[in-house]
Amino acid sequence: MIFADSHTHTCFSFDGDPDTTPVLSCERAAQIGLTDLAITDHLDINGSVEGYEPYADGPAAAAVLEAKEQYRGRLHVALGLELGQATQYPEKSRAALAKHPYEFVLGSLHNLRMAPDFCYFRFEHPDFGPALIQHYFSRVLDETLELIDFPGIHSLAHLTYMHRYVRRAGKDIDFSPFRDRLELLFTRMAERGIALELNMSNYRRGIPLPMPTQELFRLYRACKGELVTVGSDAHTAGDIAANVLDGYRFLSEIGYSCVTVFRDGKPFTDKMKFI
Ligand SMILES: [Zn+2]
Ligand SMILES: [Zn+2]
Repeated sequence: MIFADSHTHTCFSFDGDPDTTPVLSCERAAQIGLTDLAITDHLDINGSVEGYEPYADGPAAAAVLEAKEQYRGRLHVALGLELGQATQYPEKSRAALAKHPYEFVLGSLHNLRMAPDFCYFRFEHPDFGPALIQHYFSRVLDETLELIDFPGIHSLAHLTYMHRYVRRAGKDIDFSPFRDRLELLFTRMAERGIALELNMSNYRRGIPLPMPTQELFRLYRACKGELVTVGSDAHTAGDIAANVLDGYRFLSEIGYSCVTVFRDGKPFTDKMKFI
């Protein structure tokens, strides 16, 4: 049985709680009875090129590996990474992945090439009508199709990250015109053994929708997508596993009985605890 949080941040992420050390995260995870915890601090690869380095990669990896040893036998801890925008600077991304023995790598896309993070978009502006919103999501799909081919990525994080900010502005994305390309993406992921992440962080932001949405997750399942990782995207120890059980219920509603974790870099799939 698995009860896991496969997407968490610590003080080593630029936006993580400064008091949340990897040991504190492990302690919290053990207290609430998780079987597995992946610590996936941010490395937005474009950041190092564009003049900021939001990841202390040396101390972070060492601290996670130390915590992993400390909790051996009580909790499976994975040295993870949330690698943002890997394909925008592939050489740098490859070098970053080679630097530490990562056991679980989330591939994410917070911003398109030469564009700011979607969190800075003002989707509430009247110019952001349905056509422009669709244009941007189309570009997200273009880059995501590249991203899943990037060697070393185990799971595709928050596919509908952009959707969060569109919803926050009181608007929505009609995903139906993208059905063919989503099918292509999901079929390729299934063939290549790339998991799809169910990210539950929107619930803590007042948006009661998982990323991706149920509609998209159903399509992934229809495309024979079997590997699913579930993450809270906690940025503080107190949020570890937040809404993960809601995620399990959601998955079981659409026909999944198992989730996947990565232990020593290898997928391990088992039934969801409490379901
Ligand atoms: Zn992210
Ligand atoms: Zn994250």
